[in-house]
Amino acid sequence: MSLLRRVCLIACAIALIALIALIAPRAQAAIILQYHHVATDTPSSTSVTPKEFRTQLQYLKDNGYKVVSLDRLINQLKAGEPLVDNEVAITFDDGYANVFTNARPILREFGYPYTMFLGPALIDRQEGPLLSWQQIKTMHDEGAIIANHSSYHHRLAVPKSGESKAQWRERVKADILLAEQQLEQKLGVRRNWVAYPYGDFSAELEQLVAELGFIGIGQQSGAVGTGVSLTRIPRYPSSSQYAAIKHFAPKLKTLALPVTDYSGADPVSRVNPPLLKLTVNTQDFKVKALNCFFNGEAIPMTWLDANTFTAQASTPLKLSHNRYNCTAPSRSKPGYFYWFSQPWVFVK
Ligand SMILES: [Zn+2]
Repeated sequence: MSLLRRVCLIACAIALIALIALIAPRAQAAIILQYHHVATDTPSSTSVTPKEFRTQLQYLKDNGYKVVSLDRLINQLKAGEPLVDNEVAITFDDGYANVFTNARPILREFGYPYTMFLGPALIDRQEGPLLSWQQIKTMHDEGAIIANHSSYHHRLAVPKSGESKAQWRERVKADILLAEQQLEQKLGVRRNWVAYPYGDFSAELEQLVAELGFIGIGQQSGAVGTGVSLTRIPRYPSSSQYAAIKHFAPKLKTLALPVTDYSGADPVSRVNPPLLKLTVNTQDFKVKALNCFFNGEAIPMTWLDANTFTAQASTPLKLSHNRYNCTAPSRSKPGYFYWFSQPWVFVK
């Protein structure tokens, strides 16, 4: 082959690769941040300090991220529309008064929208350092989204001991619907979303939430985008050990692992260590580069076919909030990682 033909072939190959990269759908994702307290005098495990919070918002501003309201993201996901890259939504759980006094002024300074998930029955009873309805009304009038965290903040994923499946369904349904009704009475808005208390959910709870026509939002980490189930929308906890920019910034460069079958990912497990089985679209990452971790350590994985794998830790999990995290680098977006977090709820 003449030198000229070789050069031409190489040039054609490069042009073809460039063309494929241009026309291939680029994975897109948005990030939902989750907070509880914004204060210096509250439990450190659920708190970000006002200084850390401001630093995070400044990082978002300085690095081209656009903070959008959660209803925009959810409406896009519901409509199956592709998300816009670099969009971030800010959420708080439980309705602590320090969000009003410490976070709200900083959010207003940046002009950033936010969502507060709270339990209306607990606000009524003022159990703990919670927002008053007057403060909630002020936030709502200023454009904040106030949304359903169930009315009583009980664990919803599985029946309580002695509770039948039918009683569990009635209790959970009543709790979720009551919160929505109370929010509608106070603020005049129905959204039909629920952020699961403690982030706990089960496949049966997801099914119930879907039957009610609700969106279910968790506390397991991950980006939102193609492949995200609308009854287990992930959020990145951004307080405590996750507050520092060295932990915060990499989360902004994650994509939703494109899961096509969640049936092997019911958080409820009767065995420990639990077995995760996921079917994923592997178009944009190397199968061998997908790894799952527990507590920072890689766990054994088996590929059953080209798209389905199982992962199971080799020793029983001991921590109360157990997660498996699976990640793989994106091929189309260098520097970005696919991310999937599986929470576990153990029952006997
Ligand atoms: Zn909560």
